[in-house]
Amino acid sequence: KFKKTLSLLLLSGCVGTALAQTNNHEKVESLLKKMTIEEKVGQMAQITLDVIGKGKGRFESDEPFGLDEKELQRVLVKYHVGSVLNTSNNRARTPQVWYNIISKIQNVAMKQTPNKIPVIYGVDEIHGATYTVGATMFPQQIGQAATFNRSLVKNGASITAYETRASSIPWNFAPLLDLGADPRFPRQWESFGEDPYLIKELGVAAVKGYEGEDGRVAHPEKVASSIKHFLGYQVSVSGKDRTPAFISDQALREYHLPPFKAAIDAGAKTIMINSGIINGIPVHANYHILTDLLKEELNFKGLVVTDWGDIENLYKRDRIAKDDKEAIMIAINAGIDMSMIAYNYEAFCDNLVALVKEGKVKESRIDDAVRRILWVKYELNLFDKPVTHPKDYPKFGSKEFEQAAYQTAAESITLLKNTDQLLPLNKGTKILVTGPNANSMRTLNGAWTYSWQGEKVEEFAAKYNTILEALQTKAGKENVTYLPGVSYKMDGKYYDEYADQMEETIAAAKNADVIVLCLGENSYTESPGNMNDLYLSDLQTELAQKLAATGKKVILVLNEGRPRVISKFEQKMAAIVQTYLPGNFGGDALADVLYGTINPSGKLPYTYPQFPNALFTYYHKPSESKGTTEGVYNYDSDYNPQYVFGHGLSYTTFKYDQLKLSSTTLKKGESLTITVNVSNTGKVNGKESVLLFTSDLYATLITPDVKRLRGFEKVDLKAGETKTVTFKINPEDIGFINTENKQVTEAGEFTVQIADQKINFNYVP
Ligand code: BGC
Repeated sequence: KFKKTLSLLLLSGCVGTALAQTNNHEKVESLLKKMTIEEKVGQMAQITLDVIGKGKGRFESDEPFGLDEKELQRVLVKYHVGSVLNTSNNRARTPQVWYNIISKIQNVAMKQTPNKIPVIYGVDEIHGATYTVGATMFPQQIGQAATFNRSLVKNGASITAYETRASSIPWNFAPLLDLGADPRFPRQWESFGEDPYLIKELGVAAVKGYEGEDGRVAHPEKVASSIKHFLGYQVSVSGKDRTPAFISDQALREYHLPPFKAAIDAGAKTIMINSGIINGIPVHANYHILTDLLKEELNFKGLVVTDWGDIENLYKRDRIAKDDKEAIMIAINAGIDMSMIAYNYEAFCDNLVALVKEGKVKESRIDDAVRRILWVKYELNLFDKPVTHPKDYPKFGSKEFEQAAYQTAAESITLLKNTDQLLPLNKGTKILVTGPNANSMRTLNGAWTYSWQGEKVEEFAAKYNTILEALQTKAGKENVTYLPGVSYKMDGKYYDEYADQMEETIAAAKNADVIVLCLGENSYTESPGNMNDLYLSDLQTELAQKLAATGKKVILVLNEGRPRVISKFEQKMAAIVQTYLPGNFGGDALADVLYGTINPSGKLPYTYPQFPNALFTYYHKPSESKGTTEGVYNYDSDYNPQYVFGHGLSYTTFKYDQLKLSSTTLKKGESLTITVNVSNTGKVNGKESVLLFTSDLYATLITPDVKRLRGFEKVDLKAGETKTVTFKINPEDIGFINTENKQVTEAGEFTVQIADQKINFNYVP
């Protein structure tokens, strides 16, 4: 009886979901029929909140917040604009103020427009509800990746969705699924690192966290995600933001596409396009990528939004169009559904209507775009519930949420070096805390925190602990001396620094047992974060060298968005801890790691370079030929990163053994079960991310010997405990994209590698 009820329940659940979806499609069709071309085109426009803010310094103080009523009428009633993004005056606001602003907008949209279509409001809430005061800030994606823990990532996204809806916002421009393979690029930290499989797994976890396991974003605690930036962002030739890239179709499919494909299959509702240029074509103008690949081949049914001002860019920046109108024609015909136009909405709408009337853009293309936009609005239940009220979100900013952010930070912190087991420290140790990142909430959070470049963090995050404050609490103030040594200029560019009591800092070293030196970067993102030298700055290097020369042991704490090169002084550091950008609880988590309350378990989600001109990902083929093999001229033997992908130490030791395969032959349509025993052979409890790599020994493309991540599981092991970890791989999991751009798995010998354990098997199609 129970079984029967259960299956009935399951069945009705499925039918319910199917019905809701059918209804939404029907609703879209009947609404579309009633809309004029002007209304349709308006839905495709997205403005920034600045456009409708009142006067200079609009929204400067939260109350009374000001909307320019006349402009609002023009935007919504005259131009039928369908979407608004971001935050005016680039600052965070309380949930109540967000509610007030969005209610006013929805009120006009729902009462004064012919078809009462709600606006869809979108914001970048990339590591917590970024633009909401009091929201819970998680580590940035690069730190989340270092946890190698899907459930932490999913839970973090779920909390972010909750707090975003608590701010009346239903659409989040996250997660980033870009390949973070180039540390020169100013947004590497916004990615899940350099490995396509890791990005794919965590990207899917994030989408499920934002949208819910079943993708029902009508649920008032879920938001529509926007996976971005499709496709091939972050790997420009220059390493600078929004500059040309050259990527073969093979490489696009092998490295960049899989995370997007998986996230689309997982139900991601919207997607944002790469603002860059690939092989000479701006992606916003690329029919092949936007329509053939995305909408046809991947069967993406959701909404395709541009990145900031990117239709205008086709004309003003890229010069592939002679004016705005031609740029609009190219982009919309290529497959764009919504233009993040920021300011120039009238020109967009007028030009697009004219283009349709002139027959240069087909009305069927407009219908396709509007269908997708309206579908997302229905899926979000915005027609029935255009705003959500903060009072319905009692868990906003709660201890429970803060604990989740702390836990994620704790699992992200990566111990890179620990000579003579210097760490963990004893409570009574006298420490000198120094460096530009020692006493800053801004550096712990990075950009997209309360504002775009993170410049307003100190204003809103005062109640959380910097590294210094957390160490004072943990070790007792009497054991901590603080001097900055080097500081960031508050009014300068993110990388401007000055020597700040450097000599006093060096002198203070003699009274300390050890030095906790906090180096790294100030917050930045996008083009303001472009840089010309990957070495850590001269001043910070000088501080590190001089402190090491005192003879005192230095614990280097890195707090940086990308791996800045530290090889000029790395050898002189006794211990090194990477914190990435750990968020508001990063200071506390670090203090707990340094004093052993937390046993570190993070692993590097990228290859840490040793030299600025030696940038490799671990799967870069020639880089894998280490040392000289007899008879082989080894011209790439300088693959010698500072730390390899997946590196990360613990306060305990793990031993791997008994790697076993269910068979030494894998056949087509079958799968292979792989097991390995992992034991905690040390004295303290610990967590270990077990990483499974495979190599294809001989293949028609240069994959031989290059290992690729194909699985990971994080296990919790008490001291002395052993666990068996099981993986399953299918033939497709170990294949690659061939020269015809087809996914293949070639017959032959493969190696499975987990830590120091290796075993070979054959694939027989
Ligand atoms: C960024 C996007 C972001 C958008 C909206 C752009 O400049 O590239 O990642 O979602 O702005 O803020």
